[in-house]
Amino acid sequence: MKAKEISTAPFNQCVECDEIISNPICSECLAKKMRMVIGQHNPRLATEIMGIKIPGETKCLFCQEEMGLCAYCFSKDVYEDLREKDPEIAEMFWSRFDWGTRGDE
Ligand SMILES: [Zn+2]
Ligand SMILES: [Zn+2]
Repeated sequence: MKAKEISTAPFNQCVECDEIISNPICSECLAKKMRMVIGQHNPRLATEIMGIKIPGETKCLFCQEEMGLCAYCFSKDVYEDLREKDPEIAEMFWSRFDWGTRGDE
């Protein structure tokens, strides 16, 4: 069980939840995907989804940009914002971008 100790290194952690970023997709790249999904239902709302630039030790898989916020925390921020504007779309969004509970099965 030595491998577990290594995973507590202070690098590659999310600034918000302190979890290791195991799925490095930056908020800019995620926002792009989210705009596509939301845009099918509400194009105007989709334009309001923006990435947040937070530098960190981790590099995005897609654009190599530095990132310090995990996909889950960014999705949660967007979800909370959407919930105030359009609860129905917010629920649809969360069922697609819920990174935190996917491993439960
Ligand atoms: Zn996080
Ligand atoms: Zn990216």
